[in-house]
Order: sequence, then structure tokens, then C-alpha cells
Amino acid sequence: MEFKLPKLPYSSEALEPHISQKTIEIHYGKHHQTYVNKLNDLITDSAYEEFSLEDIIKESEGAIFNNAAQVYNHTFYWESFSPDGGGKPGGELLDAIETKYGSFEQFKDDFSHAAITLFGSGWAWFVKKQDGSLDIVQKSNAENPLRDGDLPLLTCDVWEHAYYLDYQNRRPDYVNAFWKIINWDVVEKRFSK
Ligand code: MN
Repeated sequence: MEFKLPKLPYSSEALEPHISQKTIEIHYGKHHQTYVNKLNDLITDSAYEEFSLEDIIKESEGAIFNNAAQVYNHTFYWESFSPDGGGKPGGELLDAIETKYGSFEQFKDDFSHAAITLFGSGWAWFVKKQDGSLDIVQKSNAENPLRDGDLPLLTCDVWEHAYYLDYQNRRPDYVNAFWKIINWDVVEKRFSK
């Protein structure tokens, strides 16, 4: 199967000033597109040619895994945003966060800390584990929580290409802006699965 770059659910300037149009053009239009292209090249005539993206992530290694996971991770990241985002979740997700972390603000602090302190390139993930509990995990490079059997709820890309044009070395400023564009409706739907 040939993978395609999914359309963004908003226009390329819609997340400004938090994520600039220039960053979207490069990060989505170039980096994400390149992961899609490389994955398609790598799986051609391989055992993974007819696999779903999630199955490739669970079963492959090396370059095929890296590119498949980066396709998934970026799509998941872009789909988490809305120009009308921010605030906090409601319903059962908010209840679960408050039960685990004491308050939404504490959860935000813990997730931000994970994103800011992740050494090098990678992703901070908020996940629901198989036993139903919530967790925050740091993953290097392309690593993805599906490999651990966890359900991804939210992710923050902390590769420098995600923020360098807008924030240079100020990763904490990028992480602070990240909260202002989260589409909690999407995260609540992922949680209720
Ligand atoms: Mn990225």
C-alpha cells in the first residue's frame, strides 16, 4: 500500500503565533512528506508492503521502523492541534487526569517537564496503558508507545526541527505555546477508545 501525507485539519498559518506558517511549511511540507516518501520507497517489494502503518511500527526495525513511526508520530501530532485549541479537557479524561496527577495544572507541569528534559531528539507522550492507567513517557528519536502496548493520547515533538525556526534554542517557550493549540476534543476521543 502506498502511504500519503494526510491533509492538515487547518490552514498552514492557522496556528500562528504559536507555530508559524514557515514551520508548518518545512516541518509538515518537507520533513513529514520525506518520511512518507522514504517509507514508500523502503517497503516496496518488502515483507511490509501490505501492512498497515500500525503493524509496520509494531513489527519492523531499522529504517523502515524509523520512517513508519515518524509518519505516524507527525500525523498524530498535527491532528492534536486546532487554532481554537487550548484550555483543558473535560469529562472522563479530566476526571482521570485529576485522579492520577491531582490537578490538570500538575499534569501540564509533569508533561512539560518530560518534553523539556528529553535529551536530544524525540517525543514526549501522554498515554493510556493497557490496565487503563495514565502515564507520561519520553521516547527518543522515532520511538512510539504502540510498541509497549500503550494507547497514545497526546504527543509533543521535541526534535529541533519542530521549534527552531520559531523559538531557536528555547524549547520551554515552544512547549508553553504547545498547550495553547491542543484540541482537547481529539484527545478525549482517543482516551474514550
Ligand atoms: Mn518532527
